[in-house]
Order: sequence, then C-alpha cells, then structure tokens
Amino acid sequence: MRAGPSQEEIRRHNLGVLLRHVHLGGPTSRAELTSRMGLNRSTIMALTADLTAAGLVREELPKETGRAGRPSLVVRPESARVYVLAFDVGVDRVVAARVGLGGVILDRREAPRARGPFDLEALTTQLAGFARQMLRKTRPDTVCVGAAAAFAGGVRAADGLVKFGPNLGATDVPFGEELARRLGLGLPVSVGNDANLGALAEHTRGIGVGCRDLIYLHGDVGIGGGVIVGGQLLSGHSGYGGEVGHMVVNPGGRLCGCGSRGCLEAEVGERTVLEAAGRVEDHVGRDAIRDVVDAADRGDIMAQGALMRVGDWLGIGVANLVNIFNPEIVIFGGMLRDIYLGSAAQVRSRIATGALAGTRERLRLRTSALGDDATLTGAAELAFSQVLSDPLEVLARVGAP
Ligand SMILES: [Zn+2]
Repeated sequence: MRAGPSQEEIRRHNLGVLLRHVHLGGPTSRAELTSRMGLNRSTIMALTADLTAAGLVREELPKETGRAGRPSLVVRPESARVYVLAFDVGVDRVVAARVGLGGVILDRREAPRARGPFDLEALTTQLAGFARQMLRKTRPDTVCVGAAAAFAGGVRAADGLVKFGPNLGATDVPFGEELARRLGLGLPVSVGNDANLGALAEHTRGIGVGCRDLIYLHGDVGIGGGVIVGGQLLSGHSGYGGEVGHMVVNPGGRLCGCGSRGCLEAEVGERTVLEAAGRVEDHVGRDAIRDVVDAADRGDIMAQGALMRVGDWLGIGVANLVNIFNPEIVIFGGMLRDIYLGSAAQVRSRIATGALAGTRERLRLRTSALGDDATLTGAAELAFSQVLSDPLEVLARVGAP
C-alpha cells in the first residue's frame, strides 16, 4: 500500500495551485484565495510568503475597497520578472514572444514566412535570433522559466518531434530539439500542435473560459482542431488526436495534402475557397481570404457561391464533431474565423440538419477571442506548465537570481 502524500508534497502542490490562480486570474486578494482554494488563512499566508520569497508574486495593499476594516492583501504575479519564451510557426508567419507570468506579452518579434520547402536551419536560426534580441533587453534580475512552440503540424507527444506538417512541407523534424540547441539557454523547448494549443489558450484565457467541453478549429491554409473534453485536452495515444482537418466529409472529393480525398481541410481550406471564388493563384494567405469575404458582402456572386460551398462542408464537419463530442462551444480561429463569419448561415443550417437535437440545443458557435495570438498564447501556457505544477523545483533548476 502506498503512503499518502507527505506534508512537503502537499505544500508544493498548493504552491502550484496558488500560483496558477494568480497567473490565470490576475491580482487576487488573500481572502479570495482562501475561499477558492478551501484552505485556512494562515496556510494561504505561508504559501504566499514562500512564493514572494521566490520572487514569483508580490503582495500589495489593494486600491480603495470602500469597506471598513483591515483590507486583505492582493497577490499579484511578478510579470516583469518571471517569463517564458513562446514561439508560433504558421504557414505564412513566424512569431517569437517573451510572455510574463500572468500572460502579459512583454516583447515580441514576428516575420512573414515565405511558402516553399521547409528549412529547419533557417527557421530555428531566425527564431533564436528573435529570442536573443529580446533577451538582450531584459533586466539582470529576470528569469526565464520555460520555452515552448506552437507548430502547424502533428507533434509526437513523447519528444516533440514534428511528425507531419504537410502545409509547411515538414516531415519527421526534430524542431524543438534544434531550437533548444540554438537558443543555448539550457532549457528544453516543448512543442505542441498549433490548434491544440489554440484550444488550450481559448479554454484558459479566451472565449472558452469556464467551458469544460470545447472544440477549437484553426484555419491556416489547412484546418487543425483542438478538442477539450471534461476540461482536459484530448491528445490521443501518441499525441496526434484531434486532427479533425483530415476527417473525410466528402468521399471521393478533392485531393488533400495528406494523400486522402475529401478531408474537411481539402473541402474548406484556403486553396478551395480561392479557386471556387475564381481568384488568381498568386494572391494567397489571410488577406486573400478576407478579400473573398469582403467581395461576398459587396454582392460578388462567385465569392458568395464559394462561401456557401465551403460553409456546407464546414457545417457538415462541425455537425459530425458535435454529435461525437457534444461540446458546449465551437470556436473558429485563424483563417477559419473569416470563413465562418462569411458563411455562418450555411454552417448553422448544416448543423441544424446534421447534428442531433440533444447535442445542438445548447451549442454556441463563436470566433476566437484571442484572435491571431491564440496559438502563441497556447505556446506560452505550455511553457508555463512546469513552473505552475512545481514552482520551487523549476526555479531551482533554472538557477533563478
Ligand atoms: Zn487530409
């Protein structure tokens, strides 16, 4: 029989829980932490003292409370001092950011990415260069507690290897390992699928806060998905779960980058929208998709037809997902935000006929609240995950000043 957790294990767990409250909820009074964590006041005071001594939070008197009596001190994250490096690799754009505890973007660099063959060396050199530029501007008492990247591709859970990324031309790429080597900070770089991290971000900081069952669909040339079930991200056995873009909605339909036919991504992806709208091939990317939506708004028949067509397939795909997962909310992000806004009526009508009454009754369809930063924000949350589970162990490991 295994003994229960020791006092020390409980303390370390509680330190993480308290830090997570402040990281996600912002400045929080001791009284509120006491009630939310279900611990007594002296325990909260001791935990806060430990986190303050470690430089992770600080305590302040609240601004005017309007109440009589001694006010409860407010605990706030040391956002300027404790940070992570977050990266986002999309088909048309790469981003690097320094994100402070509490989720504040302190600094960022981004650049367009040229479409073409995948070049691991050029990509990691560019991202490491961005990181160095940002690190040079930090104060000496700051501490980097993690690094993580969102990647538009399937990522193996065991080691962060990018197994496939057809829209970037990446296959079996040790991206995280190579980026960590070039950063040279002695920190590993965790890697996650961009749509999975987008789901995580919307769940913790976006439109899906408080929802235990949500689906995030991310459009970036192709379509990725992140599924949160009962508050947990569905990863699958090897980490490739949630690849809803390759769900077949139209057997025998258009050829997909994965080699199959009629995948959601093939029927709703960028190329299909632009072709159906009669657009020339040299104008691609988010702006090109927005142009189609704008043209449809202005009465362009071909653009309207293209959006109706993709709205049909998108609605069929969402109806299938809704029947399987019964989510509370489906969130459209990236390029799909524009496509959804341009075809919402069609999407809703397909869901009305394709989803079971019980699953669609309380379903909400929404666009991403974090916009183009959803996947980057998810990468930052992934980078923070270790310090939030055992703050003192991580600080000791990274050699905090
Ligand atoms: Zn496919």
